[in-house]
Amino acid sequence: MSNFDDFVQADARYAATFTKADLPMPPGRKIAVIACMDARLDPAKFLGLQEGDAHVIRNAGGRATDAIRSLIISQQLLGTREIAVIHHTDCGMLTFTEEQLHQKLYDEFNVHAEIDFLPFTDVEQSVRDDVETIRTSPLLIPDLPVRGYVYDVQTGQLHEVN
Ligand code: ZN
Repeated sequence: MSNFDDFVQADARYAATFTKADLPMPPGRKIAVIACMDARLDPAKFLGLQEGDAHVIRNAGGRATDAIRSLIISQQLLGTREIAVIHHTDCGMLTFTEEQLHQKLYDEFNVHAEIDFLPFTDVEQSVRDDVETIRTSPLLIPDLPVRGYVYDVQTGQLHEVN
């Protein structure tokens, strides 16, 4: 059986006891979280978030540059007023260079990808860089609380990066 079939069955079980029909669209806790898409991270679980609480924006690395479009919509249309950036130990973004991935794509598809993949070599520095990207973006509301964290995939612990 494929994942797709499993998904439909899992959702049928979820929907059978569903009680969240009346949640408003704007996140109740007025926060947007940017996190890496790594399968080992379950931000709602380790942050104590329930349905309706927060926007959780995920991409490879949890990079702010890649999340700006969603953050603008989150702030301007849905009222979020805090941002948390969460990167993590043992991230896949530490394992390749921009040049390597561009070469791989060229070899496989004969295409020069017009994409910055945004890998990094230091996970704390990448968090600092992304907090700075958010704080200095001309399209995001200035002077709002923005904090950055590294999640440890070995312990489940989050620590703040200053
Ligand atoms: Zn990652």
